[in-house]
Amino acid sequence: MTTMLEVTGLTTRYGSISALRDATLTVGSGEVVGLIGPNGAGKTTLLNTVAGLLAPATGRVTFDGSDVTTLSPEKRVTAGMALVPEHRRIFVDMTVEENLKVGSVTRSASERAADLDEMAELFPVLREKWSTAAGYLSGGEAQQLAIARGLMSRPKLLMLDEPSLGLAPVLVDVVFELLDSLRAAGRTLLVVEQNATRMLEVADRAYVLRSGEVVGEGTGDELAARDDLFATFVGDGAGGGAEPS
Ligand code: ATP
Repeated sequence: MTTMLEVTGLTTRYGSISALRDATLTVGSGEVVGLIGPNGAGKTTLLNTVAGLLAPATGRVTFDGSDVTTLSPEKRVTAGMALVPEHRRIFVDMTVEENLKVGSVTRSASERAADLDEMAELFPVLREKWSTAAGYLSGGEAQQLAIARGLMSRPKLLMLDEPSLGLAPVLVDVVFELLDSLRAAGRTLLVVEQNATRMLEVADRAYVLRSGEVVGEGTGDELAARDDLFATFVGDGAGGGAEPS
């Protein structure tokens, strides 16, 4: 399998706090990789650093064979990375269609039209609400819109930050089914999830973060067998935060 994303020795700080320390991981082409661990473990910091929203203190991000460590977030989108941020961040006053168009600024008009058709096909719920202002969508619909918007740039790698956060159980099911169908379609995904058990069901592999460090890696079965890590990734979120370095 070709390596799509390679993160080497990445450290990211907020002032004197090292929220991410010396993180190393890879995502292969066509792989679905989870990032799991308690609150404050550095998962969002890792995704945001990979996407170029945060500058690392040390380390390297290689994407599709090129070093992108110092590229702007926009250039990373053009290179084929897309991030669906935590809390969805859709534009509530804009319609579903308009929100989707925002995701495709790097595409030509004809490509955009084809992509809109594809999203209408992939997300029947959104097709029904095409001209509705996004503020009227349910939490599950809004999450589907955020994911569809991420796909509109035709990313080689789609990164999702807590896609199931704050959703009712039935909608959590919808999101994980969607991740599973993206996996079946051969998409490459890097997904932050608090819901480790569900994530490990759809992921090929996952990395476990704790206090800013990668403390484990493996398939769902491999990680389930790690008694030392079990409390970390299915924990209640206590004690995972970064410490001053
Ligand atoms: P969560 O699930 O709560 O989002 P996480 O694993 O994604 O957790 P991060 O959000 O990356 O963790 O946070 C890692 C650490 O960095 C935490 O201790 C957090 O308090 C701290 N942190 C995050 N953002 C900032 C910021 N803007 N300024 C200072 N510290 C921050």
